[in-house]
Amino acid sequence: MNIVLLGPPGAGKGTQAKKIVQEYSIPHISTGDIFRKNIAEQTPLGKKAKEYIDQGLLVPDELTIDIVKDRLMQEDCKTGFLLDGFPRTVFQAEALDLFLKELDKAIECSLLIEVPRENILVRMTGRRMCKNCGASYHVTFNPPKVEGKCDLCEGPLVQRKDDTEATVKERLKVYDEQTQPLIDYYAAQNKLIEIDGTQDIDVVFDKAKDVLKRFE
Ligand code: ADP
Ligand code: ADP
Ligand code: ZN
Repeated sequence: MNIVLLGPPGAGKGTQAKKIVQEYSIPHISTGDIFRKNIAEQTPLGKKAKEYIDQGLLVPDELTIDIVKDRLMQEDCKTGFLLDGFPRTVFQAEALDLFLKELDKAIECSLLIEVPRENILVRMTGRRMCKNCGASYHVTFNPPKVEGKCDLCEGPLVQRKDDTEATVKERLKVYDEQTQPLIDYYAAQNKLIEIDGTQDIDVVFDKAKDVLKRFE
């Protein structure tokens, strides 16, 4: 099961990804999580990526693609993987397809979670993220069982620096210009399946499972 999650920032990709990978026992590959880990550890990659992430801009393709390739070569990706937040440009999608072809693999489905603009800002500014495992919560829509603590790993919940109103607006602009074209890219390959992301988290998950069972 080789899957790509697509959708604007705040659509619920990370939230659904955590549930999907638990259900299907495949690794969750989130480029955002990888960058945040590198920033926390102050690696050279983290230092470079931070300059872009803090402004709501995309990290350049040449820094991003190799990280994903390395990750996909690891043993646990043999039976499948879930990409979340990658690809984000047509260039990344083409590089991914070429790379997978070399491994005699291909993306089977691009699951697009659609949410209208008016829902996004309130989702993003109320988002809290586990510093340890990257799980996403929301102060009103999806609060943790114990305030400030992750349900999955008890890690501390923090507000992301790039979840301010100004940065979210920039990220939405970047999405429209650079990531939205991927919808046509995957539709042209007959791999695009869209689900409505405005319903409750569990309802969205049921729909996602309904789609993904075809690829088991
Ligand atoms: P969200 O899910 O809120 O849109 P992510 O956690 O996926 O955000 O990504 C956070 C930031 O990391 C992005 O705004 C971007 O700066 C950077 N980033 C993540 N994935 C990519 C990618 N595939 N290409 C370029 N930049 C990326
Ligand atoms: P993405 O990875 O696409 O940027 P997240 O999964 O981090 O999105 O979700 C963004 C915010 O919206 C989080 O605060 C999350 O708890 C909340 N959220 C996710 N799915 C839903 C939903 N179906 N209804 C309401 N809020 C949601
Ligand atoms: Zn956690």
